[in-house]
Amino acid sequence: MNTTDPKSLTIIGAGLAGALLATLLARRGWQVDVFERRGDPRLHGYAGGRSINLALAERGLHALRAADADRAVLDQAVMMRGRMVHPLRGEPQLQRYGRDDSEVIWSVSRGELNITLIDAAEAAGATLHFDRGLQSVDFDARTASYRGDGGLHVHPFNALLGCDGAGSTLRAQMAARSDLGERTEWLGHGYKELEIPPARDGGYRIEPNALHIWPRGRYMCIALPNDERTFTVTLFMALHGDGDSQDPDFDSIVTAQDARALFERDFPDALPLIPELERDFEANPIGSLATLRLDRWHLGGEAVLLGDAAHAMVPFHGQGMNCAFEDCVALAECIEAQDTLASAFAAFEAGRKPDATAIQDMALENYIEMRDLVDDPDFLLQQGLERR
Ligand code: FAD
Repeated sequence: MNTTDPKSLTIIGAGLAGALLATLLARRGWQVDVFERRGDPRLHGYAGGRSINLALAERGLHALRAADADRAVLDQAVMMRGRMVHPLRGEPQLQRYGRDDSEVIWSVSRGELNITLIDAAEAAGATLHFDRGLQSVDFDARTASYRGDGGLHVHPFNALLGCDGAGSTLRAQMAARSDLGERTEWLGHGYKELEIPPARDGGYRIEPNALHIWPRGRYMCIALPNDERTFTVTLFMALHGDGDSQDPDFDSIVTAQDARALFERDFPDALPLIPELERDFEANPIGSLATLRLDRWHLGGEAVLLGDAAHAMVPFHGQGMNCAFEDCVALAECIEAQDTLASAFAAFEAGRKPDATAIQDMALENYIEMRDLVDDPDFLLQQGLERR
């Protein structure tokens, strides 16, 4: 491995962005090495951690087409034609995203998607190093240290591309060298995942081709279909009470019995769909949500950040992964078009940062729309949306 070759690039993280970027760069003739903290998911199973499934939209699909990975991904995806809104009382209503099935989004499994992209990266010629978590970077010596298999491994690099997610170690190493202007804005709301299993006949228990929403004002549940006939339900609500409102929060909904009482009161049509509510509620962790803003995404031609490492966002527009995939295409194009990596990273940052900031803001606004406005007739009229 000659990672100091000027035609070589080192990617940190073989998650969604890292594996796609490796494919795009290897296909353009770069020697690509990818270092991933976790084990190979094809050997040990996917050790996910965060959201089991994700909404893939046209922005992300466009990027997957550039790597010829769209077909393999869509083969495992479930089409979502619109949002199915479940009011507290009354029948669920479908609000379509577009006129017909050319305007839809897709529910994809994070694990299956990641494995498809890792296979694509290897097929394109990238070398993947699993069980190698970036530990520290010596930018003067151009070496990076990785922890794994009980030891520390030091490798030289030409340039580092940071796809190591919201808690990026590369970002911390870059910030230790030069202030990136980093701010983390915590939402104050968290989430917990639950599961709707298949029906007794092996089919889906509710309409599969929709993103289900149970809006309840300042909190909500959503459910996305999985191709094995299950749904992943996500309960979003405040982490702490504000002292005034009667709304539930994760400080007051602590035990499995609290969770059942909440669902009996606020999500009565969802409760019978989740037979293991108590088990799921106790076993699954509370995830926290934040928006990460940086003034700078790169250090000269030595290192650049993309995806969640550069601009993590709250998940309410379903665009974090889609935006990370767009970053990969944009960075690969800038690297091809520019004479030096420094000018490529600068052009990438200048081109993508305004878009990422806009999507981060829209994601925050969409929490209000999803949890509160999607069953408000005045809002729907104003949006030109009709209930079906
Ligand atoms: P990640 O997917 O986090 O990948 C980072 C990779 O780096 C991982 O493989 C990790 O193991 C590895 N890594 C970490 N540290 C190191 C290290 N030190 N050394 C080496 N490797 C390291 N987005 C959508 O587009 N649609 C959705 O519907 C959607 N829903 C979401 C729901 C929830 C509840 C959440 C929390 C997020 C959701 N997102 C969604 C956002 C999406 O998950 C992220 O934007 C996306 O995963 C970003 O990809 P990434 O590759 O930048 O980071």
